Amino acid sequence: MFMSSVTTAPFILDGIAIASQIKSELAVEVAAARDHGYIPGLAVILVGEVPASQIYVRSKVKTCAELGIYSEMHTPPASSSTEELLHLIASLNARESIDGILIQLPLPAHVDTPRLLEAIVPSKDVDGFHPINSGRLLSGFPTAKVLAPCTPAGIMEVLRRSKIPISGQRAVVIGRSNIVGKPAAAMLINASATVTICHSQTQNLAAITREADILVAAIGRPGFVTLDMVQPGATIIDVGINRITTEAELERFFPGDAARRASFDKRGSTLVGDVDPAAFAVAGAYTPVPGGVGALTIAMLMANTVKAARLRRG
Ligand code: NDP
Repeated sequence: MFMSSVTTAPFILDGIAIASQIKSELAVEVAAARDHGYIPGLAVILVGEVPASQIYVRSKVKTCAELGIYSEMHTPPASSSTEELLHLIASLNARESIDGILIQLPLPAHVDTPRLLEAIVPSKDVDGFHPINSGRLLSGFPTAKVLAPCTPAGIMEVLRRSKIPISGQRAVVIGRSNIVGKPAAAMLINASATVTICHSQTQNLAAITREADILVAAIGRPGFVTLDMVQPGATIIDVGINRITTEAELERFFPGDAARRASFDKRGSTLVGDVDPAAFAVAGAYTPVPGGVGALTIAMLMANTVKAARLRRG
């Protein structure tokens, strides 16, 4: 069992290894589904040509192929109206071979995003953003029966598979977005942690975060959580993905780190999470960036697609 300690080096929670383990398990499940006469199917909708979104979507489609999941991509133009996109969603809702529908966010500003997310039939909502699925998560439905948002579900997989105690522990989540912060807090409550959610208006933030046995940072600000905000021995889950491009940032976050320097010189940028890497030194365990929570998100999307296929067939 994992034991946090301030006297030993912090334990690195390897998101890539955990994601790979989950994908291996899913490949077996998909093969079993095929034996039962069905193939889980995912439809991805990418509106317009946002380069970052194109990369994410390609990677989702590629992972489907690796696991034997059927996938198809729909690429309506950026000028598409909400009504046109609603029509596409309705056709996918009606198709038996499609188990999951994912709308790659963000959508163009003129599109009514909440309306589209609510138009996906909840049983195919593999992103877990539909209010019915959020409600089920908050109501404490069994995990096996809820399509929950992928990034927080990935956080829970990291904690559980690393045998980090959750029940009775003090968890602090910084960030209250519908995509990460709120569902992460709901999942931690369901797992019997005592949870505090912090946000931009929280007073005395550091005093609260220092009480955390499990600290989840989902803020979107490079290196926001500093050493003085962390309880020694805490588990830090760094959800942030921030690209830094300046020498000053590189020196601030990765002083003397030759590998980062080499990668920065090659690409002109590198990634840092919402936690200052210096703060990891006092942690009991932490997710690195990259290679931590980010690696889990696509694996959990695949898991939701397989789960949706199973649940729809009873
Ligand atoms: P949002 O911008 O939607 O939410 C950020 C949250 O941080 C808000 O609740 C905001 O508070 C809070 N916040 C901002 N400034 C402060 C502050 N000074 N003190 C305390 N809280 C603050 O971001 P997301 O939740 O979508 O994403 C968070 C991070 O996670 C980003 O870095 C993103 O890139 C990353 N991410 C990573 C994923 C992955 O796969 N690993 C997936 C999704 C996101 P308020 O509500 O008051 O404004």
